[in-house]
Amino acid sequence: MLFKNVLVPYDESEHARSALHVALGMVGDDGDARVHVVSVVSVGAVGAPSLSGGAFDDPYAMGGFDYDAMMGALVQRMRTDMERVIADARDGAVCRVDVNAVVAPSAVEGIADYVESHGIDLVVMGRRGLGALRGMLGSVSFGVLRSVDVPVLTVK
Ligand code: ATP
Ligand code: MG
Repeated sequence: MLFKNVLVPYDESEHARSALHVALGMVGDDGDARVHVVSVVSVGAVGAPSLSGGAFDDPYAMGGFDYDAMMGALVQRMRTDMERVIADARDGAVCRVDVNAVVAPSAVEGIADYVESHGIDLVVMGRRGLGALRGMLGSVSFGVLRSVDVPVLTVK
């Protein structure tokens, strides 16, 4: 298979689960391939940057907020959430599946940075996500399509 590092941006929506299903279907039987399932927590959701330089400089300075515990719990929840999809889709597949959560100013920026920093060669993502508004394409999908140079496959 041409694609060795496939990113599935994951927001726990049904659409994102479908995307994971498709990604595993595409590269699941390739032992050299890796599927990166990544949730982006936007900075605003974690806490406002501090005046002394921002949340990234010292996450522990955020009023005793346990940053590591929060990210760990999110990754754990993603793993649980994905178990059914992986069990369905893997079907004896041998590719590696990495589960990760990252903090970024926005979901689009977090996804675009991950693509750059991890040598991602394909993004498979939901056409829509958790948002309530119905429409053609969610804002995160739209933003990713505009900001990355690798192929993006959107899934219903
Ligand atoms: P909107 O957010 O614009 O109201 P929406 O929630 O329906 O619309 P998007 O947020 O664009 O649609 O979601 C499309 C896909 O983007 C999701 O299926 C998922 O693959 C990815 N995605 C969305 N939010 C995140 C996030 N925080 N972290 C990782 N991936 C995400
Ligand atoms: Mg959304």
